[in-house]
Amino acid sequence: MHDLKTLGWNTHFEKEFEPYREGYEAARVALEYQGLYRVFAESCELLAEVTGKVRHQARERADFPAVGDWVVINRVPNENKATIHSILPRTSKFSRKVAGELSEEQIVATNVDTVFLVQGLDKNYNLRRIERYLILAFESGARPVVILSKADLCEDVEDRVREVEKVALGSPVHAISAKKSEGLEPLNQYLGLGITVAFLGSSGVGKSTLINRLLGEERQKVQDVREEDSKGRHTTTHRELIILPQGGLLIDTPGMRELQLWDAGEGLTDSFSDVEALAAECRFSDCAHTSEPGCAVKVAITEGALDAKRLENYMKIQKELEFLNSRQDARAQANRKERDKKIHKAFNRMKPRRG
Ligand code: GDP
Ligand code: ZN
Repeated sequence: MHDLKTLGWNTHFEKEFEPYREGYEAARVALEYQGLYRVFAESCELLAEVTGKVRHQARERADFPAVGDWVVINRVPNENKATIHSILPRTSKFSRKVAGELSEEQIVATNVDTVFLVQGLDKNYNLRRIERYLILAFESGARPVVILSKADLCEDVEDRVREVEKVALGSPVHAISAKKSEGLEPLNQYLGLGITVAFLGSSGVGKSTLINRLLGEERQKVQDVREEDSKGRHTTTHRELIILPQGGLLIDTPGMRELQLWDAGEGLTDSFSDVEALAAECRFSDCAHTSEPGCAVKVAITEGALDAKRLENYMKIQKELEFLNSRQDARAQANRKERDKKIHKAFNRMKPRRG
């Protein structure tokens, strides 16, 4: 059975757990389903719920546990149940914008050490999409590794790897074929006792197939099967935090599979540090890199040092982020107004009445 180290416990969490040492246990969230959590504790698995206090103090969705979280629990005597008292601070997180009028952050995976950005080397190959996933990865706090899958369908694998290495800015790039079990060996360096790996990439790029290879079993059903039989996704055997037989953990949540850009300001800077370094050399600090004199970015493109498409993608993503941020600001403002109104009302009630 699993001990805490196998589950990813380390000195960071040890320290954060210090105040709870007396009377509590630590456990890791393996599945969330409608407010119920399946958690891995030392040598056992429990069904857990947050305490009423946690529920009342929660101000937003991000205050509730998510898959990958380390939580502070109390066991219910003689039952395989527990209550969750607190969430230990996260070392990394992936979140997404919840669909709807207002954007709200929903956390889809936490405490991920390494994230595999999977992209197929088939006709859906798209360098610009890798750039987007890199932003998400850098923003999350997890270390990105680019995996070019379906190498068996590509004639110029070497060229592709080199092309991706250019935009990956130092992150490792590996070409693999899960189907033919080729190129998988180097991935073992990212899987080790207590290390948590998650997967990012569009539907159909081969994430499930790769996960099955790493697991050595048909754990995650491949796409065509999954569509026929969407039942059983949350049966008792289903986990979204998976313990590998050779050590290491995989996170595969539906939310992670639907991830979009969210509040990725810092991530953008990290993923496009080459473009931003060039932009810093432009004569005007607010240079739009279109027709301004002394534009270092334009010069780099003319000289072939920077791909025009990379600049285009950078500007497009920047615009999207500005839009997202403005929506978040609008929401924050609405919340503030709402709160002010309440305070005002409460205040009025307290005023002495005449009459
Ligand atoms: P997911 O949506 O990212 O989980 O993708 P799946 O693992 O379900 O794979 C989608 C399709 O791609 C399936 O038909 C797989 O058989 C196929 N596939 C996955 N890996 C490879 C590969 O290395 N080579 C080839 N040719 N096909 C693959
Ligand atoms: Zn410029």
